[in-house]
Amino acid sequence: MSDSPSQPAAALPKRAPQHVPMSQFASQDGELLIGGQPLTRLAARVGRTPFYAYDRQLLKARVAQLRAALPTSVKLHYAMKANPMPAVVAWMAGLVDGIDVASAGELKVALDAGADPAEISFAGPGKRDIELAQAVAAGVLINVESARELAPLAAASARLGLPARVAVRVNPDFELKGSGMRMGGGPKQFGVDAEAVPALLGEIGRLGLAFEGFHLFAGSQNLRAESICEAQQKSYELALSLAAHAPSPVKFLNLGGGFGIPYFPGEGLLDLGPIATNLLQLADRAARELPQASLVIELGRYLVGEAGVYVTRVVDRKVSRGQVYLVTDGGLNHHLSASGNFGQVLRKNYPVALVKASGPQGGATEQATVVGPLCTPLDLLADRMELPVGAENDLVVIFQSGAYGASASPAGFLSHPNCVEVLV
Ligand SMILES: *Cc1c(COP(=O)(O)O)cnc(C)c1O
Repeated sequence: MSDSPSQPAAALPKRAPQHVPMSQFASQDGELLIGGQPLTRLAARVGRTPFYAYDRQLLKARVAQLRAALPTSVKLHYAMKANPMPAVVAWMAGLVDGIDVASAGELKVALDAGADPAEISFAGPGKRDIELAQAVAAGVLINVESARELAPLAAASARLGLPARVAVRVNPDFELKGSGMRMGGGPKQFGVDAEAVPALLGEIGRLGLAFEGFHLFAGSQNLRAESICEAQQKSYELALSLAAHAPSPVKFLNLGGGFGIPYFPGEGLLDLGPIATNLLQLADRAARELPQASLVIELGRYLVGEAGVYVTRVVDRKVSRGQVYLVTDGGLNHHLSASGNFGQVLRKNYPVALVKASGPQGGATEQATVVGPLCTPLDLLADRMELPVGAENDLVVIFQSGAYGASASPAGFLSHPNCVEVLV
């Protein structure tokens, strides 16, 4: 116990947490460039707002950055549910080693995009018999998520004279710590509980399906490299122990992904260094312990999230009891996650910029709240942010919007026009 009088806390100036600078995009005369084009010109080219724009060169650079960091033997897959725009999938198919799909609809887009069926894998709970049969016919790898899937797979294999290529998605007995969304550990609708996998592997052998490996996906949107490394280590150990029960050698070991991107004030960039070191070590082990296996990581938002923006136009500037509102022509109907209603517990602002429709960019700033046109208080794009003084026709840009944007939003809610997507 101390008998010294309690000291008043030193009055340190407290700086509010900031967004990571959106330095992936260059600017020209103070105006943001997307795909090398000034935003107002791009908006004129698109012809209407709201729209999403994805920057091809940033997508390419992100894949190159990962390739440079990760061991060359590790395969890089794109989980296309993050952004299923056909042009994006086609572009990504030319950059990565494989595409991960989660429905027959996504499978069609991936095949249309020219992805090699040998390098497509199909995961997801509740696969319908017709989807399973389509996947067998396509010759893609099916990540079995339930014992129920085996009978329709065997039936489709017999009908087509083509043994289904299967991997087992394992629901591990651990979770990915610090994930935005957990998708493994404890009771889950995803995968087969690890303890039930040996029996399932026996059944796969009896049915004569073509066993190829394991799929583990512990969670999503993780910014902590140590947690990702730990999950990859545990996933590898678990797969290695299950491989002893497999009817044939493991060819694919998909260790999941979960790499996050910074969305909110105070969040930082994921450090790839420790992940690369960890994967190198696992690749060395795999070369000895599972000599026929390729290690795969599957990434969605990390590949595409930072390369995209959502652009919406100010329709009205109004002041309510001293608070400035910029009312735009699009909101949560196109961008549910920026409104904070896609899995977030506490709503926080995405990084946002205001681009003047004409005249010089920048200038004086003010605190403004950006809302969409929907008749619900949930339609909030920026809550009391410091932005250049906005007026009718100015453009509001929401960064970090390349993943879980248009396709993850309730476009029909309130019956406003759909948004456009462009790859530039
Ligand atoms: C959603 C999903 C992904 C992609 O997650 P991101 O957070 O976008 O990287 C990868 N694998 C599986 C199985 C998924 O369900």
